[in-house]
Amino acid sequence: MKTIYFMGECMIELKPIEQALMQQSFAGDVYNSAVYLKRSFPHINSSMVTAVGVDAMSDKMLQVFAQESLDIQFVFRHPEKVPGLYLIATDESGERSFTYWRNDSAARKIQHFLVPETVRQLASGDMFFLSGISLAVIEESARGAFWRTLEGLKRAGVRIVFDPNYRARLWRDKEQTRKQYDSAFRLADVVLPGLEDLSELYGFDSTAQVLRFCQDYDIAEIIIKNGPESVVSWCDGRHGEHQVTPVEQVIDTTSAGDAFNGVYLGARLSGITLDSAVQLAAVAAGTVIQHPGAIAPKNAFINAMQE
Ligand code: ADP
Repeated sequence: MKTIYFMGECMIELKPIEQALMQQSFAGDVYNSAVYLKRSFPHINSSMVTAVGVDAMSDKMLQVFAQESLDIQFVFRHPEKVPGLYLIATDESGERSFTYWRNDSAARKIQHFLVPETVRQLASGDMFFLSGISLAVIEESARGAFWRTLEGLKRAGVRIVFDPNYRARLWRDKEQTRKQYDSAFRLADVVLPGLEDLSELYGFDSTAQVLRFCQDYDIAEIIIKNGPESVVSWCDGRHGEHQVTPVEQVIDTTSAGDAFNGVYLGARLSGITLDSAVQLAAVAAGTVIQHPGAIAPKNAFINAMQE
């Protein structure tokens, strides 16, 4: 059985459904990808690498991980910390805004749990996925140790996958982000950047610029997402431009890129060609944006993928 690790933070999500009533769920970029991968490729072991607390909400989060058939052997429990939380607010014009309480979350302590014995176990996996958000929430004092852990995994043959997913408010400044991203790009075997993220961070305004930037690193597989416009790929010296069928009725674009990543990686781990993997990933992302929230209903998603 192939194994992919998803390292990052899953949060408690609160979204308004009517006056003074909120709906509670769980979401976070790498978690969303782990869920969509497992729903699409049940034969792959989709494993979360994160930390939660010992509180009741952490118990509930783990129950949901189990319902989604995720592997939770590397979900660690911090004795004092609790999960991060975010709340979605919608103003009169329908514009959404997000408020976070995550500065002191359990997931920030992940490096503390990546002891040598755990890293030895992780080294038997096939892929290790991290995003720019996973990086941003690692405590600054733990980053050196984190990079050494990742180098060890790469040396052991685990393929490192990186989606830059840039969230300015999680970083001190752009210089700090670029430095951390440089370390990630150096180690990555597969990258899945969105044009929008990199244009905010590096000022790029085309997928061609993003591609040139990524090609300066030794990255085997480069997949650039550009909303409904196209997906640009580069692998084994072959450059590809893939059409995306635009969705007419977009409800909520949250986690489009996450669904894309999960399904793309699941397809590649299953031996599917790059072109077909991109097409499947685009169908998944196109399905997710027709539902509110990060995690689309399971049956609706699975049915759309089987069509
Ligand atoms: P991110 O969410 O990482 O910023 P994008 O906005 O580029 O990434 O979206 C990720 C993927 O979602 C795209 O590659 C595309 O397949 C799909 N997607 C996004 N917007 C649309 C849309 N309006 N219609 C169809 N597919 C879309």
